[in-house]
Amino acid sequence: MGRLFLIYLEGNKYTCKHCQTHLALSDDIISKSFHCRHGKAYLFDKVVNVTVGEKEERMMMTGMHTVVDIFCVGCGSIVGWKYEAAHEKSQKYKVGKFILERFKVLGPDGSNYSITQDTQMAGSDADDV
Ligand SMILES: [Zn+2]
Repeated sequence: MGRLFLIYLEGNKYTCKHCQTHLALSDDIISKSFHCRHGKAYLFDKVVNVTVGEKEERMMMTGMHTVVDIFCVGCGSIVGWKYEAAHEKSQKYKVGKFILERFKVLGPDGSNYSITQDTQMAGSDADDV
């Protein structure tokens, strides 16, 4: 393995809440209206400094998807997942995109995010795992 080469992001960024490894930029957010079992989740166009797990089929509120979990390279904690395939045509826009679970990352909109705030369950593109 050797030493890790981390990518450093410039701008409003989301970082791992455990080790502050840079993960994504707020400019790359596609949607903030996703949900996971811990509360809010954001859909990103790209995420850096993560490794991916095994592919698996996962039934979500919007249908069956093939996903891989994504892990912070700094500390190995799970930070979200990536869509590898969507079975529903209307959900194909998510393929190749990443979900970061808001509660697992620190963001420019405040580091004291609580899972009890701002977790309204409305939204037609909510995903649940
Ligand atoms: Zn980390």
